[in-house]
Amino acid sequence: MELLKKRILEEGIVVSDQVLKLDGLLNHQVDPQLTMEMGREFAARFADQGVTRIVTVESSGIAVAFATAYEMNVPLVFARRKKTLLADPDALCERVPSFTKGIVTDIMISRQYISPEDKVLFIDDIIANGDAARGMIKIINRSGAELAGFGVVVEKCFEAGARTIREQGVRVESLARIRSLAGGQIAFEE
Ligand code: 5GP
Repeated sequence: MELLKKRILEEGIVVSDQVLKLDGLLNHQVDPQLTMEMGREFAARFADQGVTRIVTVESSGIAVAFATAYEMNVPLVFARRKKTLLADPDALCERVPSFTKGIVTDIMISRQYISPEDKVLFIDDIIANGDAARGMIKIINRSGAELAGFGVVVEKCFEAGARTIREQGVRVESLARIRSLAGGQIAFEE
């Protein structure tokens, strides 16, 4: 998506050879026009899939997932990062390491909001090693819902996440694919 790539070049800050700060677009501030455009793009790519629900993980995935859900006219469910020890008999949980925070968190979706009748499109902000996405895909599989695919705003191609998920047979669509951050330069895949 050319508009997104332009904004990443303008506003992305290369923190290291591995990490690109995108606070101005995704992780701290949200541009409604750009976000709705991204939602339209995901909705178009998965238009023929019979999607009944969008899922994401709080918090940075929510804005673009909402935009996609709005375009597809289906509900959005966001997995919560569990902060309570209260047992929820309906909860589907997975423990995932956090790439940026260096900690482990539990993500959960209640069975009330995802069912075997659903065809689910999973949307997220950035994929690196793919731990968060794999956790979410496990939850979707355990719910009995069908996974239509995974739409991610930024794919860091030099980390293994998106490749390994494609190897599992999941359709992964990314709006910007970053080949390298070496030398402080953002290089996109052609
Ligand atoms: P993964 O589980 O794929 O290793 O990491 C996924 C999550 O870590 C993303 O949802 C994102 O919030 C965060 N993350 C991973 N790499 C980056 C990065 O380069 N920049 C930013 N801003 N977040 C990242």
